[in-house]
Amino acid sequence: MKLDWEAAGVTDVGRVRRNDEDAYLVDTDRGLFAVADGVGGSRAGEVASRLAVDTAAEVLAEAVLAGAPDDVPGLIARMFAKANAAIVERAASEAALGQMATTLVLLYLDRASGGAWIAHCGDSRVYRWRGGALERLTRDHSFAEELARAGGGGVSVRAQSPFGHVLTRCLGRQDSSPDIRDIDAIPGDRFLLCCDGLTDMIPENDLGNLLGPRLSPAESGRRLIDGANAAGGKDNITAVVVDIAAG
Ligand code: CA
Repeated sequence: MKLDWEAAGVTDVGRVRRNDEDAYLVDTDRGLFAVADGVGGSRAGEVASRLAVDTAAEVLAEAVLAGAPDDVPGLIARMFAKANAAIVERAASEAALGQMATTLVLLYLDRASGGAWIAHCGDSRVYRWRGGALERLTRDHSFAEELARAGGGGVSVRAQSPFGHVLTRCLGRQDSSPDIRDIDAIPGDRFLLCCDGLTDMIPENDLGNLLGPRLSPAESGRRLIDGANAAGGKDNITAVVVDIAAG
């Protein structure tokens, strides 16, 4: 089925941090949407997250110029590999950027085939809102989620343990491999890509309530940011909202 879409992204520094180290990409023409949550102190996180989304966009632009991409998982794997290489290279060349790293989550939609793929590295997430229900489509690459998956204490580990937020994979560090999967997208679906600055502040039940009403993607994104700030805004907050329509 041919698809079309409308999308918007919004990022906010939150109420505690001085800099916004998140970055996002909304490439409506090429169907690529991404969120990156950078870490590394001073301004390094900003550099890492920006390099991640810019590199993903560049890899896609080159592929599209060369013709319609047929091996989408291979293309997405290249986005992550090139983004990681760019971050590692830049970190090696500037001492102040030595500790930088970033998450990267993306959604890629193919207009003609109606195909949809998601990929992530780190703890930024993709949700799908469909028929009044919110479904998380990604599993965090974090210590807390690995423990929960192994049966070691559930979601509360993240809140209680000082290591709960530690990432087991991210770009710029040792394990930078993405999880890539194809998913289905149908008219009426709404996708949310976001960072932990949103999901740490807003429980998933409330996320659904904020995302559900038929507002534009830009208005919905703004509501999410306002909700996270009202709940404390302890970290940078970024959301990309993508509404799927028939092509
Ligand atoms: Ca964050």
